[in-house]
Amino acid sequence: MTHRILGCRACGSPDLRPVLDLGQTPLANRLLPSAHPAEPEPTFPLGLVFCPACSLVQITETVPPEILFADYVYFSSFSDTMVAHARALAERLVAERKLGPGQRVLEAASNDGYLLQHYRQRGVQVLGIEPASNVAQVAVAERGVPTRVAFFGRATAQALADEGLTADVFHAHNVLAHVADLNGFVAGIHTVLKPDGVAVIEAPYVRPFVEKREFDTIYHEHLCYFSLTALDRLFRSHGLIIDDAELVDIHGGSLRIFARRGAADAPARGSAVGLLQAERDAGVDQFEYYARFAAEVERLRQTLTGLLGGLKRAGCSLAAYGASAKGSTLLNVFGIGAGVLDFVADRSTVKQGKFTPGTRLPIVAPEELALRRPDYCLLLTWNFEREILAQQTEYRLAGGRFVVPIPDVRVV
Ligand SMILES: [Zn+2]
Repeated sequence: MTHRILGCRACGSPDLRPVLDLGQTPLANRLLPSAHPAEPEPTFPLGLVFCPACSLVQITETVPPEILFADYVYFSSFSDTMVAHARALAERLVAERKLGPGQRVLEAASNDGYLLQHYRQRGVQVLGIEPASNVAQVAVAERGVPTRVAFFGRATAQALADEGLTADVFHAHNVLAHVADLNGFVAGIHTVLKPDGVAVIEAPYVRPFVEKREFDTIYHEHLCYFSLTALDRLFRSHGLIIDDAELVDIHGGSLRIFARRGAADAPARGSAVGLLQAERDAGVDQFEYYARFAAEVERLRQTLTGLLGGLKRAGCSLAAYGASAKGSTLLNVFGIGAGVLDFVADRSTVKQGKFTPGTRLPIVAPEELALRRPDYCLLLTWNFEREILAQQTEYRLAGGRFVVPIPDVRVV
């Protein structure tokens, strides 16, 4: 059912070096309708490798998108942090590039219109491209964002260009890592971008991933972890030059790049130059940089399961917050399930009433934390720590404590 890659997803090299093996895990976003499903849950191998030829870090299995995204439940607008982040970015690009009714912004994987709505409100033409029809419907109905139901790639890009729907600004946030045909996606960006247009891409950055032990962001939807070194090489091979690159403190640490059309050997003009040098200095293009990752994840497992096990033996009640994909990886890989945790709280009404993959914990509304008052709550969505702790003041004032698992186990 899955496809194991024979060569690097970017450059095709067959010489891939193993970094971490997480064994067989269920699909991290495949929530269950009941704690006792009639069908056994499918599991798939989850292994991470490094390509010495182009520096791309990637997983080895590709689960077909029709299985992965069949019942997609991630709505960007459920997070206040995401909405604020999107608004700030749109305002910045409107000002910097003087966008108005004569310009068009395209977004691949536009989700529920969380980003394009801010351009639309400022009079700029927008078009979203979103593969999940239920999510696209929300963008159209609730935010007035025209949305085409499609996967972005070579064919979709060519169709848009043929219709004259090219982009002054092209966005792709947190989608590049999900794309099996990486080369088709980047070629598509070149196809839809106007000659003076800019592509703004955000993708998980390999440095915080490695340096903060964010192993739980590995799941079957997340095919790649990018360095600027790997992206620069990939984009140049499709006639796109990355001038600027910056770090964004979201989803555990993302890299945001600004790319334009240009000859493959054109020099970068902006901040990308310094960041590329910093990556070379850190050894991001060498296997040795990744060699200790597996041992560090094992040390994290021992610390966290030791703490939770001790609390449980002392008679404490435990729950978790965040029925996220990364939570699924952490619970399944570390073997933390119903014997330890009573439930998982999550703000998404789409997830409430369902059960977590593999571990089969009931998903309930966040208000349940203050009502049921578990002594400790494992924060699975540690990337939204500040937002969630602020929302859970009542629980915390009543004595509830959060256990933050990444990058180091902390009780707050
Ligand atoms: Zn490669």
